[in-house]
Amino acid sequence: MVVSYIYNFIVFYILFIIGKNKELFIIFIISYNTINFFLMKSPSTIYDYVIIGSGFGGSVSALRLAEKGYKVLVIEKGKWKKAQDFSKTNWNLPKWMWLPALGWHGIFKMTFFRHLSVISGVGVGGGSLVYANTLPKPKKVFFNTGSWKGLLEWEKDLLPHYQTAYKMLGATENPKFFDADLILKEISQNKVFEPTKVAVFFGEPEKTVSDPFFDGKGPDRAGCNFCGQCMTGCPHNAKNTLDKNYLYLAQQKNAEILAEHFVTDVIPQDDETYIVEYRKTGKYFSKKKQVRTKGIIFAGGVLGTVPLLLKLKKGNMPNLSDMVGKDVRSNNEALIFVTTPDKNIDMSKGIAIGSILNTSKHSHLEPVRYGNGSGFWRIGVLPLVTEKFWLKRLGKLLWQLVSEPLQWLKIYSISNFSKHTAVLLYMESLEGKLQLKKNLFNVNTKIQDGKAPSAFIPNAHKLAREYAKKINGKPMSFVLENLSGIPSTAHILGGAVIGKDKNLGVIDTNHQVFGYKNVYVCDGSAISANPGVNPALTITAMTERAMSLVEKKSKI
Ligand SMILES: Cc1cc2nc3c(=O)[nH]c(=O)nc-3n(C[C@H](O)[C@H](O)[C@H](O)COP(=O)(O)OP(=O)(O)OC[C@H]3O[C@@H](n4cnc5c(N)ncnc54)[C@H](O)[C@@H]3O)c2cc1C
Ligand code: SF4
Repeated sequence: MVVSYIYNFIVFYILFIIGKNKELFIIFIISYNTINFFLMKSPSTIYDYVIIGSGFGGSVSALRLAEKGYKVLVIEKGKWKKAQDFSKTNWNLPKWMWLPALGWHGIFKMTFFRHLSVISGVGVGGGSLVYANTLPKPKKVFFNTGSWKGLLEWEKDLLPHYQTAYKMLGATENPKFFDADLILKEISQNKVFEPTKVAVFFGEPEKTVSDPFFDGKGPDRAGCNFCGQCMTGCPHNAKNTLDKNYLYLAQQKNAEILAEHFVTDVIPQDDETYIVEYRKTGKYFSKKKQVRTKGIIFAGGVLGTVPLLLKLKKGNMPNLSDMVGKDVRSNNEALIFVTTPDKNIDMSKGIAIGSILNTSKHSHLEPVRYGNGSGFWRIGVLPLVTEKFWLKRLGKLLWQLVSEPLQWLKIYSISNFSKHTAVLLYMESLEGKLQLKKNLFNVNTKIQDGKAPSAFIPNAHKLAREYAKKINGKPMSFVLENLSGIPSTAHILGGAVIGKDKNLGVIDTNHQVFGYKNVYVCDGSAISANPGVNPALTITAMTERAMSLVEKKSKI
């Protein structure tokens, strides 16, 4: 606590010494910190585990630890959301987006780094609230590459845990294809085109039934009506988000969930306990609170866990591995919008991702949809250009617009963008690594090995053009990709990877942090190679495995 007090003081002092009215600011900061110092009560309750974040890793940990008899507290910075709380379309930014500084407490967050733009989820249930429900298993190469290579027979060891993950998440094969899938099938040629396995309840559309998954112990559910709104939040109670499975069951085993609070610090006390410091979300000057615990699970997702670990390494947990922040992967992705003026095509109908095309040994393509009316992205896309050099790219982009003005006018003036647009998500399992590094004020990316991830993946662009040709449409990409060449990803992974020892990883094969007792990392940061497919199932399976290795709480 003293260290945190001094740290706060120094940071504020540096910040305000360069501003005006510095005397006033300094008096304010000293009194603020001093009041905080005296107001903070030494926490009396001792938890066995505090779990930071309630996404895939956090939710699995909460249930499995609570089942083993441990006293568990989950701290989540986002809100609890019920079906009626989600925005109807993504034009309702305050309800859809996460930007607490503006009072927006939605489920969708965007973060911009030097080499990558990242989209992620926030709320009780983490990324499951915003994700597209898709649960593919990575190919063999994932289990035999990266920093965890050769430490265990990963594919074999994880197999039973993938089965548990499928069962818990309610994985079911998508029963119906709609336009966006059928067009993909048309361009599939001899490649394997399949329905996705998804975390959705396909009962009778919109009909509520008592828990269909957990022998009556889970909540009531309703059948999917294929409205395509999965990524703005399912309003029909059909999507199997984590608050409807792992977290729901964990609460029945007495796990506590504290929403709208975020963890700012961890202070080791002695060999046995830690103090976790947290605050109310969206209010920086809110009172710091503390809780005492014997164990910690870092599960804030890569963008929550890694910046926190980087801060702790410079502060209260200096023994953390130097690998913190390294081996960050973007799943080598391209997100390409294909819009058609054809009024007979409805891309918005269906679940968010209903099919997957195995485009090569290392790559996949999935057509992603937003629900009817969710056309926010129309303000953020420009014609797709495959060109690395920015000046040439700009030239080619302008040429496309001026050479076919009427076609582009039709595309940009389409009345219902989501109905006429499929977002093609292309992923590769090929290697490429970034590092997340802490500067004075924030965290940013740095190239660790090889080249920076590129927004211009030729195979992805080729497939998008084939798809567009089929429907007389136009392929487009995010403005930022076009203008700056910085790619976007929904699947940031790594930064606290598994390694043989502290020099090669942040955690061991059981997910225990090197250098600290009873501290774990269980989320996307622990992914130690490039899966090349959507990772939520793998995060769930890896956490299931890690938690299966924790002993039951002893009764003595
Ligand atoms: C639009 C979109 C679609 C996607 N579709 C798919 C898909 O179809 N299939 C798939 O496999 N993956 C998909 N993903 C990716 C998937 O959502 C993530 O890989 C997954 O959620 C990561 O799980 P996690 O356990 O690492 O943490 P997350 O699920 O990201 O959860 C971390 C939680 O921790 C909280 N948190 C962070 N820091 C703190 C802190 N300091 N204190 C308290 N709480 C904190 C966050 O608010 C968040 O709720 C998608 C992502 C997006 C954005
Ligand atoms: S398609 Fe609609 S009803 Fe089905 S899971 Fe997605 S949001 Fe829910």
